Amino acid sequence: MNVFEAVKRDVTTRQAAELYGIPISHNGMARCPFHNDKNPSLKVDRRFHCFGCLADGDVIDFVSMLYGLSSKDAAEKLAADFGCIHESKKKKSCVKMRKTLSEEFRFQKAEQKCFRVFSDYLHLMKRWELEYAPRAPEEEWHPLFLEGLQKKSIVSYVLDIFLYGTLQEKAEMIAECGREVKNLERRISLFAAADQRESNACSRGNRNRGNDGTGEGNAEDESEGTSCQHSGKLQNNFSA
Ligand SMILES: [Zn+2]
Repeated sequence: MNVFEAVKRDVTTRQAAELYGIPISHNGMARCPFHNDKNPSLKVDRRFHCFGCLADGDVIDFVSMLYGLSSKDAAEKLAADFGCIHESKKKKSCVKMRKTLSEEFRFQKAEQKCFRVFSDYLHLMKRWELEYAPRAPEEEWHPLFLEGLQKKSIVSYVLDIFLYGTLQEKAEMIAECGREVKNLERRISLFAAADQRESNACSRGNRNRGNDGTGEGNAEDESEGTSCQHSGKLQNNFSA
C-alpha cells in the first residue's frame, strides 16, 4: 500500500482539519480556509466540500491546498503526522538494501573462495617444487615441478590482487578466474584425497609392522604415517 492509499484509508479530512487547528462544529462544519469565509460553509468529513468557494477533495487535497504542498508531500506529511504505515518507500529501500547486502555477501564469498583456492594451489606448487625437483641434470623435468615453476608467480600476483587490490580489481579477477577456480578446486581436492589415501595406507603399514599385540605405540605410528613419502605415482594422474 502506497502513502496515498494509506493516508486515505487512515485519515479523514475532519481529523486532519482538527489536527491542523481548524475549529469544527459538532455537525462537521468549519469556516473555509480557502476563501474569506464569514460563516462556516466548509463541510468536512472523510472528504471536504465548501459551499462558498466550491473547494472540494479528499484529505490529501485538503492538506495540499492548506499548506501549498504537492500531493505527494501532503500525503507524506499526513502519514508522518498521523503515523500511517505505508510500505512503498520503506519496502523499496528494504528490498534495495537486502539486494545490496546479498550482492555484497556473494562478492565476499566469491572473493574468499578465489583466495582460498589460489592459496592452496600456491602451497601445492611449492610442495611440488621440492618433491619433484630433478635429482640429476639430465633427468627430465616432472610436469608438476614445471607447473610450479611456470605458474607460481602469476598465482602470487592473483593473491596480491585479493589482498591489496581495489574492489574493481578484485571484481574483475573474480569474473576472470571463475572457471579456473572451479577446475583448480576440483584438482586440489583430488590431490588432497590422494594424500589422505596415501597417509592412511602408510599408517596402516606402520601399524602392521609395529604391532606387538599390546596396542601400544600406535599414536607414534600415526605420526610416522603422515610423514610417509608420497609415491608421486598417484599424483601424476592428476596433473593438468
Ligand atoms: Zn471555501
